[in-house]
Amino acid sequence: MAAKELLRVENLKKYYPIKGGFLGRTVNFVKAVDDISFTVNEGETVSLVGESGCGKSTAGRAILHLEKPTAGEVIFEEVNLTTLSRDELRKIRKDMQIVFQDPFASLNPRQTVAQVLEEAMYIQNIVPPEGKRERVLDLLSKVGLAPYQADRYPHEFSGGQRQRIGVARALSLNPRLIICDEAVSALDVSIRAQILNLLKSLQREFHLTYLFISHDLGVVRHISDRIIVMYLGRIMEIADKHSLFDNPRHPYTRALLSAIPVPRPGSKKERIMLEGDVPSAIDPPQGCRFHTRCPYVKDNCRKDVPELRSAETNGGSHLVACHYFEEI
Ligand code: SF4
Repeated sequence: MAAKELLRVENLKKYYPIKGGFLGRTVNFVKAVDDISFTVNEGETVSLVGESGCGKSTAGRAILHLEKPTAGEVIFEEVNLTTLSRDELRKIRKDMQIVFQDPFASLNPRQTVAQVLEEAMYIQNIVPPEGKRERVLDLLSKVGLAPYQADRYPHEFSGGQRQRIGVARALSLNPRLIICDEAVSALDVSIRAQILNLLKSLQREFHLTYLFISHDLGVVRHISDRIIVMYLGRIMEIADKHSLFDNPRHPYTRALLSAIPVPRPGSKKERIMLEGDVPSAIDPPQGCRFHTRCPYVKDNCRKDVPELRSAETNGGSHLVACHYFEEI
């Protein structure tokens, strides 16, 4: 059976104006996300990866319309979010939740866990008042917390437990899609593994779809079905997990993968060191965004933008934005 598309992102852009001069006019833009397109199927985990500042978190926020996109379309279950009123957006957002990196910052310190969860359900009118307590306890048990913890405050929990509360809050609205924005980045390795396993088991139980945003390729390898590699606001490569890790085609993806530590002592992997820094998103390079750091750059890379092209290897979908991926 063909996979059903849940989310479609088309030519999404998010630019932030830079004000300057005496009159405070817009003098330029930070092009945080610059024309990205991809789809996410029901029940799938798609990861957005790239270095800090590549635009992956901005993309997540623009998809949810927490920040209004500058251009492009976000189609969720065949509804174009860019055409909706604020009220319509609020209603549809219960199906699209987000788990942030810093659970403490996203929880109200004056509310108990039960109040945090009940508030979300109250706003979206999810359960009748008499059923709320039962629902809260059920959610806590789903994320591995005990009933007595319902009446505690966020500061009484560890980082991992707070992230479990963040997951419970997202789950409280019965979402279809959860965007996990660096959701495990601040956690210790062992706690990180527990939260990743929790996310996977909840996905199976509730048939959830994840858009997983992370800079950590080790984490992404563990959880993803497909991976989208971003650099300076653009997509460089999209592939299923196995194709991407076994046969990366874009020079930037190869450099990123070469930086993952090898777990076995004695095994060697040559690290590809990229020259220079990531250019500014205010004035990104013409042509291929990666050309200022690419070891294979040729003249036309400096003026022609490479489109995503098929590099199919094993029957899956593998797309690469490089003029020369066939020969490098
Ligand atoms: Fe490198 Fe050119 Fe390919 Fe860009 S298009 S990744 S600069 S070879």
